[in-house]
Amino acid sequence: ANARLEFDQAPTEVQELAQACNLMLTRISDAWGQQRRFVSDVSHELRTPLTLVQGYLQSTLRRCNSLSEPQREGLEIAAAEADRTIRLLQDLLDMARADGGHLRFNLEQAPLKQEVQDILDMCHYSSDRVQFQADAPSLTARIDRNRLKQVLINLIDNALKYSDSDQPILVRLSRAGEWAQIQVRDRGRGIPPTDLSQIFEPFFRVDEDRSRTTGGTGLGLSIVKTLVEGMNGKISVQSKVGDGSLFTVHFPIK
Ligand code: ADP
Repeated sequence: ANARLEFDQAPTEVQELAQACNLMLTRISDAWGQQRRFVSDVSHELRTPLTLVQGYLQSTLRRCNSLSEPQREGLEIAAAEADRTIRLLQDLLDMARADGGHLRFNLEQAPLKQEVQDILDMCHYSSDRVQFQADAPSLTARIDRNRLKQVLINLIDNALKYSDSDQPILVRLSRAGEWAQIQVRDRGRGIPPTDLSQIFEPFFRVDEDRSRTTGGTGLGLSIVKTLVEGMNGKISVQSKVGDGSLFTVHFPIK
């Protein structure tokens, strides 16, 4: 939005060219802003009625004992699709907010072991499947607790989605120099080396068909990266096909 070309000392022709370019940049920036507002408004408008539909579907499934098997199956598919679409809308909303610099962070010094443990407890992951190891139990860092929750849930959900159900996921808290390090390691299918550099791009998925069956949106990791960077952290990934993936989030200790 602030891109401008400055050529005050240049010959007239160059100044005119710079002016024309600046006009173009302003138009592109306006169009971009309109598109962002459109995505944000539409996501917001669609999310409310869809949440209502999802609520009705779920309460019918819970309360109605007289449903035939095909009816129940149909409602379950509708509820799962509503759920997936609500998540996609939430992701789009977050993306539009992040893009416009409207994502707010409430940073506070927090004990990381307790934060991670609380998130894991709240999500009711089975402790056999998602294991937690705190090598540096007294580490604290300046984070936004809700955003950290969003980051961890995204990484753990991916680890669960892209690995077999008998493979444990390890969440590890440790110290690396002046950084607090939270890692999520899975023993799943891994990510091909050629795709690793694109994994944090919006809508990127390693294997379209495979991802579709898992109901992902392709937005999760790009939002995770935006959130981590918004907390002054950084995120990286190492992966080997057939051996699994290791996502590492760093937060500055001081
Ligand atoms: P999605 O909603 O599709 O999971 P993400 O942005 O979270 O979107 O991830 C992008 C793509 O990266 C996924 O579609 C998947 O192909 C790949 N991916 C993410 N996490 C993992 C993982 N732990 N193991 C293997 N592949 C992964």
